[in-house]
Amino acid sequence: MRQIRHFINGEYSADPGGRSFEKRSPLDNRVIATVAEATRAEVDAAVRAARAALSGPWGRMTTDERCALLHKVADEITRRFDDFVAAEMADTGQPHHVMTHAFIPRGAANFRVFADTVKNVPTEAFQMATPDGAGALNYGLRLPKGVIGVISPWNAPFLLMTWKVAPALACGNTVVVKPSEESPQTAALLGEVMNAVGIPRGVYNVVQGFGPDSAGEFITTHEEIDAITFTGETRTGTAIMQAAAVGMRDVSFELGGKNAGIVFADADFDAAVDGIFRSAFMNTGQVCLGTERVYVERPIFDRFVQALKLKAEAVKYGRPEDHASNYGPLISQEHRRKVLGYYAKAVEEGATVVTGGGVPELPGELADGAWVQPTIWTGLPETAAVVREEIFGPCCHIRPFDDEAEVTALANATDYGLSTTIWTTNLARAHRVAAKVEVGITWVNSWFLRDLRTAFGGSKQSGIGREGGVHSLEFYTETRNVCIKL
Ligand code: NAD
Repeated sequence: MRQIRHFINGEYSADPGGRSFEKRSPLDNRVIATVAEATRAEVDAAVRAARAALSGPWGRMTTDERCALLHKVADEITRRFDDFVAAEMADTGQPHHVMTHAFIPRGAANFRVFADTVKNVPTEAFQMATPDGAGALNYGLRLPKGVIGVISPWNAPFLLMTWKVAPALACGNTVVVKPSEESPQTAALLGEVMNAVGIPRGVYNVVQGFGPDSAGEFITTHEEIDAITFTGETRTGTAIMQAAAVGMRDVSFELGGKNAGIVFADADFDAAVDGIFRSAFMNTGQVCLGTERVYVERPIFDRFVQALKLKAEAVKYGRPEDHASNYGPLISQEHRRKVLGYYAKAVEEGATVVTGGGVPELPGELADGAWVQPTIWTGLPETAAVVREEIFGPCCHIRPFDDEAEVTALANATDYGLSTTIWTTNLARAHRVAAKVEVGITWVNSWFLRDLRTAFGGSKQSGIGREGGVHSLEFYTETRNVCIKL
């Protein structure tokens, strides 16, 4: 049985003999690993190691030296590509091609893009007039914030965790990471990479465990953590923000969504069906940017629903190693209970079930996995729970609309504001709607097309702050102004 340990001060912790928990495969519910659960003392040791590293060799490195090391991290991830793919497939059960084409390469890319960004961002300078005529010069100094707590979710574990670790390290901070209890493996494996390329001890630390009364809370309440970057549910973000208020620690939050897909009648029909299919069902619908509300202009509504139904019914269930499979299970039995609860609620609320709504019949061991059918509903009012609440499963509700003003209002009638995807060949309309939807990220005629230099984050209850490219520097550094009287 695989043992997953903490990685503190450059070493994997010895068998703790203390608290641990089982990680089960989403594919068949078998136990695949025993994971150590950090105590408060272990989190404290990780934070102390991270604090000490700030004034060690890491803190003395030049930006060039630090960024060169981060490129080596990316190279080593690429060299150990198959190990990362295997670890993440084991944790999430998602298809091989999703790992090899998206989630694991993005981990390496995150280190490269932030190493390059940090080296090329100037700080500001302002000349000012003074009464004596001699003037003064102001310039900004960018300094690392210190020890950053990184708390990440399970839905794209390696991509989302490195999206925070890479800019934090590029800016000269040190980190204490807590991956989700559902996906402990890739964060642990990254410790081997850090040691292999010579990242000084204490710079990258990982503690395993849960949220409340466990590693997550021990990090967020630790007074030596200078700032917290978190991706996960909005409700969890609220709890973390309360913890961060003590000591006035800064937070960066990437939270939940209830994203709208908008399809106008003039859209490239096949491209729109493909795009909405991917955004609703990729990663079994467990993508924060995914579409759970679809609005389709009335003249193409029936045809669109039928086309999406055909695609949803053609998914290939299977183990990730089976390259013919393109659809995985949900992350856990617990999450499946939540999603199936929403499937039942949709029926209670009067939905027309276009397809799915239940559990597929699968052979052998897979029958015990956390599988659910891709599901499409129509006919619900906007007040229905499945139209308002984030389900985080492979499902969407589709509703017809008649004009631009109506669909913009429908898209905005939510407390969330993460992303939207708009499908139209009328570019003027695309610009108009994009400017009006209250979200952090809008895609036109595409979905999940990511340039890592751009601002990423949510409006309303979908997040606080922006990360990506230079925007990450706003959170991971502190700008000090120096004013020199000439
Ligand atoms: P979650 O909030 O349940 O857990 C996320 C992490 O927080 C886990 O590591 C968990 O152990 C930890 N945690 C839980 N309670 C905590 C507490 N009180 N204190 C400290 N840590 C705590 O989220 P999840 O179920 O892992 O992930 C799914 C959610 O993440 C969805 O809502 C999804 O939309 C969101 N998400 C958002 C983005 C984005 O970029 N906006 C990206 C991916 C996922």
